[in-house]
Amino acid sequence: MSAKTIHITGVVQGLGFRPFVYQLAHSHGLSGWVCNTSAGVDIEAEGPSAALERFVAELSSEAPPIARLESLSVTDHPPNSYQGFEIRPSRSLEGEYQLVSPDVATCGDCLRELLDRQDRRYRYPFTNCTNCGPRFTIIQDIPYDRPLTTMRDFVMCPECQREYDDPLDRRFHAQPNACPICGPQLTLGDRDGVPISVEDEISSAVQFLQEGRVLAIKGLGGFHLVCDATNEDAVALLRRRKGRPAKPMAVMMATMEEIRSHCLVSADEERLLTSTQCPIVLLEWRSGSTVSRLVAPGNRYLGVMLPYTPLHHVLLREAGRPLVMTSGNLSEEPIAVDNDEAVSRLKGIADNFLLHNRDIYARYDDSVCMVMEERSQPLRRSRGYAPFPIRLPFDARQVLACGTELKNTFCVTRDRYAFLSQHIGDMENVETLEHFESAIKLYRRLFRVNPEIVAHDLHPDYLATRYAKSLKTSADLIGVQHHHAHVVSCMVDNGIEGQVIGVALDGTGYGSDGQIWGGEFLVADYRGFRRAGHLEYVPMPGGDACIRRPYRMTISHVYSLLGQEGLDTALGFLGGIGAQELRITKRQIDRKINTPLTSSCGRLFDAASALLGFSGEATYEGQAAVDLEMMAYEGEETSSYPFTILDDTGTKIIQLSAMWRAILEDLIAGLPREIIAFRFHNAVAGMVAEMCSRIAEGTGLARVTLSGGCFQNRLLLAKTREGLQGAGLEVLTHSQVPCNDGGVSLGQAVVASRQDDGPVPGARL
Ligand code: ZN
Ligand code: ZN
Ligand code: FE
Repeated sequence: MSAKTIHITGVVQGLGFRPFVYQLAHSHGLSGWVCNTSAGVDIEAEGPSAALERFVAELSSEAPPIARLESLSVTDHPPNSYQGFEIRPSRSLEGEYQLVSPDVATCGDCLRELLDRQDRRYRYPFTNCTNCGPRFTIIQDIPYDRPLTTMRDFVMCPECQREYDDPLDRRFHAQPNACPICGPQLTLGDRDGVPISVEDEISSAVQFLQEGRVLAIKGLGGFHLVCDATNEDAVALLRRRKGRPAKPMAVMMATMEEIRSHCLVSADEERLLTSTQCPIVLLEWRSGSTVSRLVAPGNRYLGVMLPYTPLHHVLLREAGRPLVMTSGNLSEEPIAVDNDEAVSRLKGIADNFLLHNRDIYARYDDSVCMVMEERSQPLRRSRGYAPFPIRLPFDARQVLACGTELKNTFCVTRDRYAFLSQHIGDMENVETLEHFESAIKLYRRLFRVNPEIVAHDLHPDYLATRYAKSLKTSADLIGVQHHHAHVVSCMVDNGIEGQVIGVALDGTGYGSDGQIWGGEFLVADYRGFRRAGHLEYVPMPGGDACIRRPYRMTISHVYSLLGQEGLDTALGFLGGIGAQELRITKRQIDRKINTPLTSSCGRLFDAASALLGFSGEATYEGQAAVDLEMMAYEGEETSSYPFTILDDTGTKIIQLSAMWRAILEDLIAGLPREIIAFRFHNAVAGMVAEMCSRIAEGTGLARVTLSGGCFQNRLLLAKTREGLQGAGLEVLTHSQVPCNDGGVSLGQAVVASRQDDGPVPGARL
């Protein structure tokens, strides 16, 4: 006989872990107890040594599917002669915290019940169990118990209570447990959200969708705007009403078979689609698909997800067609969560509202991923992932990092964890700021964080920066340069320390010199960086006006690098610029009025895209660059464009005039634009490889991290990786956090946490 005390941390509560331990102990003939604490799960078990050893091993190898064990510590002690094995009441430990499970897509058992006419939960849209269902979106504090969730208002019926109390039941201590008798209910509303009387809410909603209406449907972490994805008029109507002319929207499809009939799906993509996170995955769109092209105009990829709640499963099966599921907001506002809020904000967009009476505590957008070379990369990390932490390779101080302006996330750190928030959104309005502030409060409460340091971007006008500076705390304020944060986020994503060559290619980031950076080559570690090189500066006439009007960047590049003659040639290919707009743009460049300098790679892509045919204004971030990428896929090509690297001041500067001259020559020669677009991608990838090789020569560094929003461009990423590997360098990319600004707060937190490590060693930085 021997006895062991076992302490387990991780995501181990509210997902059937104690019943699992209970049953495991029974099967090995052990006695003792298991109990939840605010720090994790404690177990005491005793019995024959061999059985005990197997028990300990199987605690991790046989754990429930959605448990995530972070640590398991075992100590031996003399047996206490327990009679039998029991589940003891939960204990709260002062100041202790635990990991909180993300929401989990409907499990196979619940789906079977949902579709079974004989089951008491047949078609019940809020079916869940310990293996699936809402978690993070309904929890207000720890320990994770029903009174601390938005399920507290629903009193379980005797049958649900019996399941809840039975350690051998799949719903033992399933906090959101519910059934048609005692749980949340749907209501169907008209265009003002006023309930209309129907026999069956889902059937009527399905009928409305089939008629081409736009519905606002309350889901797990907020509202979706929904319409028939195969109905061109319905999609156009939704776009018009939402004020979103071109940005790709996501589609939900009932099954993998249906997805395969619309898209090409690799084994890795299928694994991701069917995972418990159930994200939107960008898939190559089949040409024969009946999904309207308006869903993602001009795009080679379609964002697709499977149903992840019982409501979605029933809706999709009965609708019998793919449905557009886009966040329920006007462009730029955060996703709506409250019924009243949704009705007031989505009025005029939705013809009907499908509502329910379970409150959503945390806004939670759908996550978006892509798979490249068998690696999945998040582009938006939210539902299913947050608030599960990123593991740090060191013990962090308690930091709150406020993130950036676009695609904002924030990050709090403690111990070896970085709790990167779910996607907050573009911090351009009061609603998003409120979402940001309430989410920060929630994370600080859940993970018991009281920041010693508040980190922020260097841009003085970002709302997130202003928020950081307005906090009345004794915490130290630390500003972190945007691209340094990008590079460090990629290092942490890969679990590495030390120095790297950090490549950060993106649209906009405030530079240490007050200019707008975005084509950056840093020699960096967690503490600091040296700007080893960058794309050459060009004017940004009218500042942010260039982001909306990509052709302004074409004018800037060719006029400032090739002069009036270059501009005249380019104008022959730049359609539709008014004489006055041209005059103003030129004057701004000449007189440097409201014209910062930029080394932005995103703006370089804009410039090329406008020259090759993107006309008018961009209606979402990166639209022109996406167009250029899509164009390039049609023009596979090995040749590239020339460029030079100037290196007389110790900072290497990539000069672009030779490239622009060659592009204009190709245009004059009538070369297909697709080929020019492909050559351009090759050229930018070539610049990265050449720069990094030279920096590697000078520093002896061989690891290169790739970060920044430009690397959402798969062609650029593939070509850049090829080039760097060809130069014998090790390439590190993102897999846990987005390469875009959604990952920046992680980098900020780590840089700030490590500021006090002492002087930067070595002279290389
Ligand atoms: Zn389930
Ligand atoms: Zn019930
Ligand atoms: Fe960025």
